[in-house]
Amino acid sequence: MKYWEDFQTKWGFADGDSVPPDALLIRQVYIGELNRELEKRQSGIRLLAWDRPGMHNPYLIVRVNAAMVRNVPAKRLFCGQQSGGWEPKGDLHEPEPDEAFNAALVFAQEMELDDRVVCIVTLREDQKRSRPMRWLDITDDHVRHRWDRDCPCVEVEESVYVDPDSYENGGIPICEECGTDRKYVKTQIKGKR
Ligand SMILES: [Zn+2]
Repeated sequence: MKYWEDFQTKWGFADGDSVPPDALLIRQVYIGELNRELEKRQSGIRLLAWDRPGMHNPYLIVRVNAAMVRNVPAKRLFCGQQSGGWEPKGDLHEPEPDEAFNAALVFAQEMELDDRVVCIVTLREDQKRSRPMRWLDITDDHVRHRWDRDCPCVEVEESVYVDPDSYENGGIPICEECGTDRKYVKTQIKGKR
């Protein structure tokens, strides 16, 4: 349990300066597994993910009274308050570890819980395309321009879409009612997302 000590104090992870990317998921694993063990061993303690606001280490694990969280779903104990986790009312008072707690902790240390989370290192999405940007040719029927009405003629369509070919022949589209030029809004190209 490589991060166990870090999760115990607000000075963990170098005072919050170097929180590793797998810390959040590993916290879930530790708490999920340990709470299962604590229940099995009838400990009076449960663990809670505590998202510490402000400076220092943001990811803590705290002890809470088992009776207090008896009806709280397991996920709300390990996900942290940032993700809708259970929040104690009033001050957080940590009960002292009991015998079952210490036994569960020793047991969990042997479970290789860290191996349940893998960290995937990958290139940023915009770095995957190694070729530089350049101008590309697109067929005209995959391009259209939007022009909006710029006059008070409400009976006329608000927006019209004009392809390059129509623009070449007709120029700036106008209001059919009063002849005012429409205003250019944007260009769209057809593609799959
Ligand atoms: Zn008009």
